[in-house]
Amino acid sequence: MAIIVVGHKNPDCDSITAAIAVADLLSKRGMEAIPVAQGPVTPDAAFVLEKFGLTAPAIETDATDKEIALVDHSDLAQALDNLDKGKIVAIVDHHKLGDVTTPNPLEIWVMPVGCSGTVIKAMYDFYGIAIPKGIAGALLCAILNDTVLFKSPTCTDADKAACEALAKLAGVADYKALGMDMLKIKGSVDGIPAVDLMNRDYKDFNMGGKKVGIGQVEVLDLGLLDKIKPALVEECKKLQADGRHTVMLLLTDIMKEGSEILVVSQDASLVEKAFGGKVGGALNSMWVDGCMSRKKQVVPPMEKAFA
Ligand code: MN
Ligand code: MN
Repeated sequence: MAIIVVGHKNPDCDSITAAIAVADLLSKRGMEAIPVAQGPVTPDAAFVLEKFGLTAPAIETDATDKEIALVDHSDLAQALDNLDKGKIVAIVDHHKLGDVTTPNPLEIWVMPVGCSGTVIKAMYDFYGIAIPKGIAGALLCAILNDTVLFKSPTCTDADKAACEALAKLAGVADYKALGMDMLKIKGSVDGIPAVDLMNRDYKDFNMGGKKVGIGQVEVLDLGLLDKIKPALVEECKKLQADGRHTVMLLLTDIMKEGSEILVVSQDASLVEKAFGGKVGGALNSMWVDGCMSRKKQVVPPMEKAFA
C-alpha cells in the first residue's frame, strides 16, 4: 500500500507542492508514495501547478489504516482525521513541533526555515537525487509564497540559497517576477465571498486548553478589503460561536509590511496582552506594524498570553 504524503488542512501552496515533491523523493528512494491533499488547491497553487506541468493531488481526509508522511505540519488539529488509526512514517516541516506522537520510529526533517520547500531541497541533496525541473519550479514558488518574496521574518539565508539553486534547475530567469505574479493571484479578493476569504488560510490551535482560530489574508493593498471587512468580522463571529474562545483574521498588507488583525474573543484583553496594543474601532481590530507571519509573530505571543 502506498504511503500517502499530505499537508495540513486548508492546504496552501507549500502543503500542495511539498506533498508532490516528498512523494517523488520517497518513490525514487524505492518506497511507493502518492501525494494527497486535505482539500482543493488554492488559486495561487493552481497557477504554480499549471506553470510547471504538475497535477493537483487527490483529496483525502482520513488516515485510517494508511501509512502517512506529514508535510508542512505536525499538529493534530491540522492533520488528517483519525490520525491515530494510521501509521506516521515521516514528518517534513518548518513549524514548531506539534503534538503528534508515534509508537514507531520514523524519519523526521524539521528545520527552522521559511518553507517546507527549503527542507525538501536539502533532502534531495542529502539523498543525492536530482530534483525534476517541474518540482524545482514548484518548490521555488512555495518558498517565495511562504516567505512573501523574502519579506517575512521567517525567511532565512537557507531559503534564499534554495531559491537561487531551484530557479536554475527550473529554468526560471526572473524568479521575483514569477513570485509577484503568484502573489497577485493569491491576494486577489475581487468577487470572492467573505466565507472563502476567511477560510483561505485558516488554522485552529489549542492554546492553554482553549480553541483559537487564526486566519490570514495577504493582499498587495489593504484598501482592497475595505468593503468586505464587516462581512469578514461576521465570519469570525460565526467561527467563534462554534466552540472557539477566540477567532482572529490577519489582514496582511504585503507592501506596507504589517497586518490589521480582526479580533472576536471571549476575552480580547489576552490578545491585547499578546501584542501590547488595543483592540478597538468599528471592526474591533488592531494594526500591528511589521506583522507578516502567523507562525513567527502571532502564534508565539498568543500562546504565551493564553498559557
Ligand atoms: Mn502551510
Ligand atoms: Mn509552509
